[in-house]
Amino acid sequence: MIRSISMVSKKSAAAIHLGLAALLPLLFTVLVHGSGSSVPSLPSPRPETEREAAAKRVVNQSLQTWQERLDLKDWKIDVTLVHPSELDPKTLGNVHWDLNTKQATIRVLSAGDYMLATPAMLDDMEFTVVHELIHLHLAALPHTDASRPLEEHAVNEIARALLRLAKRVPPVK
Ligand SMILES: [Zn+2]
Repeated sequence: MIRSISMVSKKSAAAIHLGLAALLPLLFTVLVHGSGSSVPSLPSPRPETEREAAAKRVVNQSLQTWQERLDLKDWKIDVTLVHPSELDPKTLGNVHWDLNTKQATIRVLSAGDYMLATPAMLDDMEFTVVHELIHLHLAALPHTDASRPLEEHAVNEIARALLRLAKRVPPVK
């Protein structure tokens, strides 16, 4: 069975801002790709920016590091950067999994759609990867509409604690 769990942002104000702001680059991207993808004579896509390259490096490194730390090595997990159209509104990532094959795909909002400066964006992307990996440990539990927000809250708290521990950030007073 494939389930989808979407991450609920840590800060609702930031998420609303992101949700609105993310629409503009999305529209632009859809138009550009819509007209260009089927016409081979158009110029090739612009080169990847350093910000986009850094985002790819960080999500892949985060997956490798945290899949090991969370003892999820028996899973086959991919991470991919996506535009907001592939995520639920106002979310920054999601994970789809198959419990039988232990395969999962984590989707993270792409660098071009993020409204944060690069260092903060990269930290946030790592948070999303850890968050979605924790969901995999809970994948076998029953999921209902009522349990979903409770799971999101628990997963956020655990992810935050793990990242603070890993980065040696003192606890919140
Ligand atoms: Zn979540």
